[in-house]
Amino acid sequence: CGIVGYIGMKKAIPVLLNGLSKLEYRGYDSAGIAINEDGRLRVEKCKGRLSSLEERLKTEKLDGVMGIGHTRWATHGEPNDINSHPHISQSGEIAVVHNGIIENYIQLKEFLAENGYVFKSDTDTEVVAHLVEYYYKGDLLEAVMKVIDEIEGSYALGVLCKDDSDMFVCARKDSPLVIGLGNGENFIASDIPAILEYTRDIYILEDKEVAVLTKDSVKVFNSLGAPVKKEIFKVDWDV
Ligand code: GLU
Repeated sequence: CGIVGYIGMKKAIPVLLNGLSKLEYRGYDSAGIAINEDGRLRVEKCKGRLSSLEERLKTEKLDGVMGIGHTRWATHGEPNDINSHPHISQSGEIAVVHNGIIENYIQLKEFLAENGYVFKSDTDTEVVAHLVEYYYKGDLLEAVMKVIDEIEGSYALGVLCKDDSDMFVCARKDSPLVIGLGNGENFIASDIPAILEYTRDIYILEDKEVAVLTKDSVKVFNSLGAPVKKEIFKVDWDV
């Protein structure tokens, strides 16, 4: 299972697929990507190998320069196309990839169902997509901060919003996630090898840290919303 995210000037899809292929060693049963193409969220996902996803992407013209990708190791809900990530919120505004387990998803699902949210998948992850939408009032970081206050368990998360084609948000707790710092581009990944051919300057995210990435900046915050000054970790090894 793995996560890769990209924002910059390159076409996002090849970067995401290349990164995900470097995470194949972690094991997976499904794969998917979400791209924000000038304010349109495009999602493609399926059960099976990355090659099946690539096959589907061949027939789609996807030019977006930012997006998130995922390989899934199913924990809640069988491996199938619908349970594959990214998961999309009710209105189609929010896309989420997640590695880990949301332990309190049943309570959150009940709460969201009472508030009119209809679930499409059998995953624990889908609550995150709807909950971000529930809290989203124009500020994606603020919404994600509220969500990580409520979810229990383990997570590495990548979150896109339709309205924000120039930024995305990530967060982690008890599942790995690193940020790669580039020149006019930035990356997230579950593990360094996924992005090593693009950058050697890395922020290692700590538990409960949240980050906002644009192509020119990375801002990291603690769980109280205070900015965190990160040290750059310089990778001096090769894979
Ligand atoms: N618990 C989530 C699911 O089953 C994420 C699994 C993963 O880490 O890939 O969909």
